Amino acid sequence: MTPAETATEARTQAESLDQLASVAVNVGLGLKPGQELVMTASVDTLPLARRITEQAYRAGASLVTTLLADDESTLARYHYAPDASFDSAAKWLYDGMAEAFKSGSARLAIAGGNPNLLSNEDPDKVGRANRAVSQAYRPALELITRHQINWTIVAGATPAWAAAMFPMDAPDLALDKLWAAIFATTRINTPDPVSAWKAHDAELHKRAAFLNGKRYYALQYRGPGVEFRLGLADDHEWLGGGTTAGNGNYCIPNMPTEEVFTTPHKDRADGIVTASKPLSHQGTMIEGIRVRFERGRIVEAHATRGQEVLQKLIDTDDGAGRLGEVALVPHSSPIAQSGLVFFNTLFDENAASHIALGQSYSSCLIDGDKLSPEQLAAKGANSSLIHVDWMIGSEHLDIDGITASGASEPLMRKGEWA
Ligand code: ZN
Ligand code: ZN
Repeated sequence: MTPAETATEARTQAESLDQLASVAVNVGLGLKPGQELVMTASVDTLPLARRITEQAYRAGASLVTTLLADDESTLARYHYAPDASFDSAAKWLYDGMAEAFKSGSARLAIAGGNPNLLSNEDPDKVGRANRAVSQAYRPALELITRHQINWTIVAGATPAWAAAMFPMDAPDLALDKLWAAIFATTRINTPDPVSAWKAHDAELHKRAAFLNGKRYYALQYRGPGVEFRLGLADDHEWLGGGTTAGNGNYCIPNMPTEEVFTTPHKDRADGIVTASKPLSHQGTMIEGIRVRFERGRIVEAHATRGQEVLQKLIDTDDGAGRLGEVALVPHSSPIAQSGLVFFNTLFDENAASHIALGQSYSSCLIDGDKLSPEQLAAKGANSSLIHVDWMIGSEHLDIDGITASGASEPLMRKGEWA
C-alpha cells in the first residue's frame, strides 16, 4: 500500500472537497489578501463553489462574486428563444468581467458541464451563440491569454458529466467515481497535496527549460493517422506549470496540468493529423477529427460525428483554421493512466499531446506580453476569437525535434519522453 492510498482512505469526501478548494485557491489561483475573485460555476457544482468561496475569504479575499450557470436554463433558450437571440451575448457582463480583471480581480472557473448538453441542438444556433460569446468575451479573455491576472480552472463533478463518463453505473456511483478521478488526477489523494503540487510544478518547469535550451525550429509527428510537421514561432518559449501573472501573483492556471506548451508558427503546419480522443466543444461532441494542413492552414476537415460544428468552428474567423498552441504530454500522465476519457478538455488535454486551433498565448514568446499584435504576428503567433485544444497524442505517437540546421532528434517515443 502506498502512502497515497492510506491518505485516500483516511479522508472523507467532505475533507477531500475542502482540500481541493484550498489547493485551488492557495496553489492554483495564488489569491492574495485584499484581492477580489470572480468565479464561474454550474449550479451543479455549488458544494465546491461554496467551499472555494470560504477558502478565498480565509485567504483574505475582499469580495467573491460567483456567476452561476444552469443547464436547464441554457436549453430553454435553444427551445424557446427567438432566432435573433443566437447572435447576442451579455456584453455588459463580459465587459464587467474585463473591468474587474483590470482593477486587480483574480478569476476562477469551475469546469464540469454536461459534455453532451447541446449535442441535439441546431448546430447553426450553437455556432452563432458561441461566436457571439467569443466576441463579447474577447477583451476579458485577452487579459487571461496575456497572463495579466492570476487565474485557474478546477473541476467539480456533476451528475450529467458523470453519466456521460460512466453510463453503465447508477447515478450516485457514477458521481462518486468522477469525484475519485478528479481527486486522483489533481493530486488531492496525496498525503500533502500542497507539497505534491510544488514538486510537480518544479518538474514541469525543468521540462520546459530543457526544451527552451534546444530552440527547435519544428516538430515532426508520426503515428497512426498522423504525418505532420509543425514549425515553432520565432522566439517561442516553452511554458509548463505555474507562471507569475502581470499583476505579480504566481498561479497555476489549470488543475490538473501535465503539459509543456508553446506557440507554433501560424504559417508552418503541413500534413495530416488525426485526433486521438473525442472533443467536447461547448456542449457538442466532435469525434473522429481528421484534418490536413497546408502552410499553416486547414485545407480539409473531417469528423465522423459533429462535422458541421467542426467546420463552423474552423470558419469562425481567419485564424480559426490555424494553430495557436502545441503541447507535449507523456502517456504516463496520471490522467492518461486513469484510462478514462473525461469528455472535458481540462482533463483530456492533460492526458495526451495536443494542438489548439486559434488564439496563441503571447506569454509563450520571449517578452511576448510587451509586443503589439503586429509584432506577434510577424513572429508567427496566431490570432483568433477561438482557442480550442484537441488531442493527438497516444502511446503510438513519435515526435522528433528538428533543429535550425535540419537535424532530427528523438523527443518522444511511443508517447513517452525519449
Ligand atoms: Zn494545452
Ligand atoms: Zn490550450
